[in-house]
Amino acid sequence: MSSVITSADFQRLIEIGLAISAEKDIDSLLERILKEAKAVANADAGTLYLKNSDESLSFAIVLNDTLNIFQGGANGDPVALPDVPLLTESGEQNMTNIVSRATILGETLVVDDAYASDDFDFSGTRRSDEMTGYHSTSFLTIPLKTLSGKVMGVLQLLNARSQEGEVIPFSDQVRPLIEALSSQASVAMENRYLLDEQELLKKQLEDEVDIRTLELKKTLDELSRAHTVLKEITTIDPVTGIRNRQYFDEVFDQEWKRAQRQQYSLSMLLVDIDHFKKVNDTHGHLAGDECLAEVAGAIDMMLNRPSDVVARYGGEEFVVIMPYASSENAHHLAEHIREGVARRVFNADGNNIGVTISIGVCTVVPDEHGRPRDLISQADDALYRAKAKGRNRVCVYGSE
Ligand code: GH3
Ligand code: MG
Ligand code: MG
Repeated sequence: MSSVITSADFQRLIEIGLAISAEKDIDSLLERILKEAKAVANADAGTLYLKNSDESLSFAIVLNDTLNIFQGGANGDPVALPDVPLLTESGEQNMTNIVSRATILGETLVVDDAYASDDFDFSGTRRSDEMTGYHSTSFLTIPLKTLSGKVMGVLQLLNARSQEGEVIPFSDQVRPLIEALSSQASVAMENRYLLDEQELLKKQLEDEVDIRTLELKKTLDELSRAHTVLKEITTIDPVTGIRNRQYFDEVFDQEWKRAQRQQYSLSMLLVDIDHFKKVNDTHGHLAGDECLAEVAGAIDMMLNRPSDVVARYGGEEFVVIMPYASSENAHHLAEHIREGVARRVFNADGNNIGVTISIGVCTVVPDEHGRPRDLISQADDALYRAKAKGRNRVCVYGSE
């Protein structure tokens, strides 16, 4: 018989090649390879083995039409047959087993009648034949070799059939066809493995990026929280525990602009402790510091609205900004604060200290030409008058 591949065979091989390389996963690819090879060779049964990294072969798919067996592959049950070792127990190459030998040599092995052959150890096959009543006669065993010569596994076809259905040897014509198909199959398998590996790496990379992104977000959140805390800390005056001058400057500027835009009144109280120098002189600077903190806390406690802000303006002076407050309300609150402080006796560094305060009040609805510092200088004027009039009193700018 001639072993020349006809153009019809070529056409078929090309179609099979295209079909197997389109398979989306390794299991369905293997199933496709075995089924196509079996069909081309008109074999009754077939097995596909995969080479393990540990020098053995595993059954990947087993197919037998007569016994109606189909295991492994994309939808089949896993094949529970023992692996075929490529080395004997003494560590030599396993040349007696036909699939092992085909793998080691990388060569096609043909057996016309296993029952008449002494070339290989078919004891395993015979045992299973006895159990199933099947007669494993002709074998075509082809290594699945890539273009670089790497053996991925073995394709074994069993019991070629004539057109009449009789078991016959695999013909010389069939052999190169299956070899060509195996070669195509090996490349498709190698590609599939590479693609799977790439997919896995891509997935790992994506997971890694996700984790890193999450970590980065966490770090940024922590940083932002730390920044908020830090900003909060830097706006607090260390001696009195209330807001500092810098904070006041920022808030006052914002409040001024908002009041200017929305045309509502903005009131300011400028508070100065009376004769504070005497407190320092009498009780010491430390007591003075503590007294300052006590007075600041007392003023803070007497503010009603969240939008009212007290800050240390400098030395023993405090400033209160009150958005939306009318002149009347501001005056009223100033009196309330003055009285509250005058009534109290503060404990500072073990001393009982009574102090009074003077307050300058002013209120304005900022117009487009107005400047924030005008409000401060008006409050300062009123404070000056309160001092001049004898201290422990409130003066409102623009009224006697
Ligand atoms: P007046 O009623 O005119 O305001 O009299 P006064 O003594 O309060 O005013 P003066 O401006 O003469 O003195 C302010 C004093 O406030 C002097 C200064 O030692 C004291 N002072 C300013 N800042 C602090 C501070 O942080 N701690 C202490 N202990 N004293 C301070
Ligand atoms: Mg002062
Ligand atoms: Mg003073």
